[in-house]
Amino acid sequence: MSRLRILFPAILLSVLACQSQVPPEAPTETPTAALAATIPPTATPTLEPTPPPTPAPPARRALILSIDGFRPDAIPLAPMPNLTALMQASAYSLTAQTVYPSATLPAHTSMLSGQCPDKHGVDWNDYIPENGYAPVTDLFDLAHAAGLQTVMYVGKEKLRQITEPESTDIFEYINDRDLVITETLIQNFPADFGLMFVHFPTADWMGHEYGWLSGEQLSVLFRADEAIASLLAELDSRGMRDETLLIITADHGGHGAAHGSSLPEDMTIPWIASGAGIQPAVLEAPITTVDTAATAAFALGLPIPAEWDGVPVYEAFGLPVENVSVGCSK
Ligand SMILES: [Zn+2]
Repeated sequence: MSRLRILFPAILLSVLACQSQVPPEAPTETPTAALAATIPPTATPTLEPTPPPTPAPPARRALILSIDGFRPDAIPLAPMPNLTALMQASAYSLTAQTVYPSATLPAHTSMLSGQCPDKHGVDWNDYIPENGYAPVTDLFDLAHAAGLQTVMYVGKEKLRQITEPESTDIFEYINDRDLVITETLIQNFPADFGLMFVHFPTADWMGHEYGWLSGEQLSVLFRADEAIASLLAELDSRGMRDETLLIITADHGGHGAAHGSSLPEDMTIPWIASGAGIQPAVLEAPITTVDTAATAAFALGLPIPAEWDGVPVYEAFGLPVENVSVGCSK
């Protein structure tokens, strides 16, 4: 009996060890436990037999890259060959929507808090320290509370106000071009990160200076595409790519030399997910930027707060679309 007592934990541990070695992107796995936890009770119950519970969430880490002011129709114009190649292995939509106002700080706060502006209350778009931080539970709060290392590399200081400093283990504001931000990140790469947000500011600066889809803006998007390649190469060299959920998106688009309106040119953003658990497809379900936080939380197995407006993009994981977010009011 005493021998059994000793053996049983050892067997259990070895079983758990085996399970943790299952590739997280294995096609037979579905993140059932996390899915069940996030479906509201009003969701239509499925008649399909319940698949066996998955032992581990599909992603070990999540990386969200936001290219500021990045209109999806710029991709072929820039061009962006590395992103275009990545899209072939991605679940993506080029008609995702941001929130109104289509401005950097409110939109990024929605992207990373899973909540519409009327809920997170960040209605300013400058770095105003006396306003504090978005007073809601965001993705970084969740990840940090779960013990994941949380990292932000941003090109605009106001993005500090998305989440409290306590929720970011590493926060770097680098007032420079996308390639410099990327190089700095790679030189100091946080190999143990669980959640990382990277922000490229340059396309927005050039849009305001020379206009959206101007030659000048397209040329810096071509450079952003090189930075994406560097980032992907870094993940590859560390063997981290397959277990990382990568979402490449934007806070807003733009028209003329401005943004902020509810025009489609300002509101339409790319949403490109690849890596852990993702089934490549052109996504048909409507996507709003609040779904980005929910999708990352879902992939990481983090509990999604009931007050979040965002819903995981189940379709990106090849799962039935149980519900979609209704978006935010314009
Ligand atoms: Zn912006």
